[in-house]
Amino acid sequence: MTRPQFSRSFTQQPPIPDEAIAAAVDVMRSGRLHRYNLALGEASEVMELEREFALWQGARFCLAVASGGQAMQIALRAAGVGPGDAVLTNGFTLAPVPGAIAAVGGRSVLVEITEDLVIDLDDLARKARASGARYLLLSHMRGHLCDMERLVQLAADLSLTVIEDCAHTMGAQWNGVLSGSFGLAGCFSTQTYKHINSGEGGLLTSDDAGFMARATVLSGSYMLYDRHGAGPGPSSYEEIRLDTPNTSARMDNLRAALLRPQLRQLDSSIAAWNARHDLVARHLAQSGAIRLPKRPDAERYVGSSIQFCVPGISAVDAQALVARLGSVGVEVKWFGAAQPSGYTSDHHSWRYVAAQGLPQTDAILAGLFDMRLPLTFSLEDCALLAEHILDAVATLPATVQA
Ligand SMILES: *Cc1c(COP(=O)(O)O)cnc(C)c1O
Repeated sequence: MTRPQFSRSFTQQPPIPDEAIAAAVDVMRSGRLHRYNLALGEASEVMELEREFALWQGARFCLAVASGGQAMQIALRAAGVGPGDAVLTNGFTLAPVPGAIAAVGGRSVLVEITEDLVIDLDDLARKARASGARYLLLSHMRGHLCDMERLVQLAADLSLTVIEDCAHTMGAQWNGVLSGSFGLAGCFSTQTYKHINSGEGGLLTSDDAGFMARATVLSGSYMLYDRHGAGPGPSSYEEIRLDTPNTSARMDNLRAALLRPQLRQLDSSIAAWNARHDLVARHLAQSGAIRLPKRPDAERYVGSSIQFCVPGISAVDAQALVARLGSVGVEVKWFGAAQPSGYTSDHHSWRYVAAQGLPQTDAILAGLFDMRLPLTFSLEDCALLAEHILDAVATLPATVQA
């Protein structure tokens, strides 16, 4: 049977809501784009965003910054990571994660993942003991949460300070608790391909006043840290304000104005993503050759992308599968490629990190495929996509059809 070509763009996000455009125009008319450029008695858009995101996340404090990568760098530094310190992190994540560790002079210690694409907690315990690391930058890569209760217990037993990379899990929960609430800090991205879109941007949350005071000065507050929407009181700054470097990574009012209405819509966006994700997952589950990562009952995920494994697929067949899908307009990424391309890279191409053997992770990535599900796709689009994938997988050699 010949199916229609898939013709939608995998990188087309929905437009910015009219309300957000109007708010951004107001900021531009005011000329006060810098977050500290306030009229008397005024709260800036960035201050309001910090307040609203702290409330939404259930965190005491929130700091808006220039990117998700900056949120992670600032968090690591404010948590005390210095040159030469070992920082545990997932062996499977995107480049800004080991990049943030490198930026603060840390040493990435890469931890294996499981076939459900989360950090392997046994390997975490082993590597924490072997390396003596005191920090974990936990990446909820592609929106998959590990057993967060076990993680929290393990971190306590191993004296690990946990910073969560929530670039793919804004709005995701484990047993009703939002990701980003399990460790010292949560780091979020508002870059175009994440869950709310300001082009670039990041948010950092924490309940720790001392940490947040250091983070705020690091973000470039000068001595204007009282102009924050959800920051600690002035006494938290007394000890640290002259000892903490300003690394200029502020968010501006234009971006904050774009984000506030999107935050109000986030719950409905999550429902729309999950309807798309679950529809594709139901289709793919019909293939004996495909393995979908298990999603525990405790997890409420945000299905803004979908991952599927074809265990045992050869590199040649994986490349052919990607090409075949590409020829019908379906953009699937393969994480097993020897060369990094586009946004996709694996630990072998992070040469600024000491080379580390991750045989279990490598074996999983060899058969791992990934597809974005932007909200501009309809449910019919998603069904068509899934059928194209099933067609292409059915052409693979019998050895993977098990
Ligand atoms: C996008 C991303 C980041 C960093 O976000 P930026 O805002 O682009 O700096 C961090 N971690 C993961 C897993 C990401 O995908």
